[in-house]
Amino acid sequence: MNIINARLRGKAGLFRIELDGERIAAIKPQAAVAAPGTDGDLDAQQNLVVPPFVEPHIHLDATLTAGEPKWNMSGTLFEGIERWAERKALTTHDDIKVRSKKTIDMLVDHGIQHVRTHVDVTDPTLTALKAMVEVREEVRDLIDLQIVAFPQEGIESYANGRALMTEAVAMGADVVGGIPHFENTRDQGVSSVKFLMELAERTGCLVDVHCDETDDPQSRFLEVLAEEARVRGMGARVTASHTTAMGSYDNAYCSKLFRLLKMSGINFVSCPTESIHLQGRFDTYPKRRGLTRVAEIDRAGMNVCFGQDSIVDPWYPLGNGNILRILEAGLHICHMLGYEDLQRCLDLITDNSARTLNLGERYGIEVGRPANLLLLSAPDDYEMVRSQGHAWVSVRHGKVLMRRTPARIERFG
Ligand SMILES: [Zn+2]
Repeated sequence: MNIINARLRGKAGLFRIELDGERIAAIKPQAAVAAPGTDGDLDAQQNLVVPPFVEPHIHLDATLTAGEPKWNMSGTLFEGIERWAERKALTTHDDIKVRSKKTIDMLVDHGIQHVRTHVDVTDPTLTALKAMVEVREEVRDLIDLQIVAFPQEGIESYANGRALMTEAVAMGADVVGGIPHFENTRDQGVSSVKFLMELAERTGCLVDVHCDETDDPQSRFLEVLAEEARVRGMGARVTASHTTAMGSYDNAYCSKLFRLLKMSGINFVSCPTESIHLQGRFDTYPKRRGLTRVAEIDRAGMNVCFGQDSIVDPWYPLGNGNILRILEAGLHICHMLGYEDLQRCLDLITDNSARTLNLGERYGIEVGRPANLLLLSAPDDYEMVRSQGHAWVSVRHGKVLMRRTPARIERFG
C-alpha cells in the first residue's frame, strides 16, 4: 500500500510514502499532485500525514464510571479519590476489561495508537492490574499499551503499599508510578519517591509519577523526583505528570527549580482539561488556572506533552477520546496561541508524547519504521487546530485500522 499526495511536518512539497508489509519502505518527493492510482493507494489530498497520536496519561481502569455509585458533587480532586474508593470496591475483572476496551475504541477512533494507562494498585487483590495485563495483549492490533503501577492511595500511607508496587511490577507493569503529594506527610512523600525510583532502576521499568497535583505552593516533590533521576542518570526514562503546583510556585523558586529540571532531562505531561477543572477549587477570585508551566517548560527546551487523564470518571465527567480537543483547550489555557506555537503544536500530542513514552524508533514517519500513521484533514498544524480537524484514516501495521467519513453540510441559501 502507498500513500500519495502527503504533506510531512517540517518539509516542503508533497510525498509518496510506500509501505511494505508492516514497515515504511520509502518516502519519495512528488514533483506534482499525483492522480489516484491503484485501488490500494490512499490519497492524502495534500494534507498532513503524521505518526499516530499518543495518549500519554489516562486511567483506563476508572473510565466510564462517573456517577457510580455517586457523583463527585464538589468537582474536586480529593472528592474524586473518595468516590473512586467507593467505585473501586465494586470493580470486577470483567467490568474493568469491558470499560477499558470501550475507551480504547474511543481512542482508536481518534487516531491514537500508543497509550500509557495508570492502573490503581492500592488494592490487595490487584484486580485492575490483572485485568489490564490481559487487555494489553488483547488489544495489540489496535494500540500499544504501557501499564503504570499507580498507587492511588499512596505507597507509604497505604497498607502494604511497597509490597503491592513490587508485586505489580513482577506481574508485568511497564512503568512505576507514585503520588507523593497525597502521602500523609512530607517525609513519606520523599521516601515514596526514593522507593519508586529504586524499584524502577532495579527492574528496568520506566517511571511516571503523579507529582504535585495540587495548588499547594509548598508541594515540592518535583525537585526530589528530578534529583533522583539526575543522580541515577535516568532522566529520559522518567516522567513527572501534572506538576500543577508549579503554577503556584513563586518565580524565584521556579528559576532555581528549572536549572535542576534541565539537568535531570525528565519529561512532563500536562492534562489541561482535567487540571483546569480540578484545580483552583480552594480559590475565590482571583482564581488560579492550576496548570504547570507548559509554555515555559517547552521554551526552556524540555519535553512536555498533553494527555486526557480521564474520560467520564469520578474526576472528570466529559471526554470522548479526542486528543485534539485536549490540544486545543491546552493551547488556550497555557497561553500558547502565538504564531510559533501554532506552527508546531502537534508536537504536543505526537513527537513529544512519543519521547515521553520512550518509543524511540518504533515511532515516526521514516524509512524502516513501523507502518503506523495517520492521514489528517488539514495541511499543517495551525489549520488542523483552527478547523477542529480529525484523523481521517489511521493505518496500523500497514493496514487501514480506522477511516472517518467527513461530515457533510448542505446549504440552501
Ligand atoms: Zn492521572
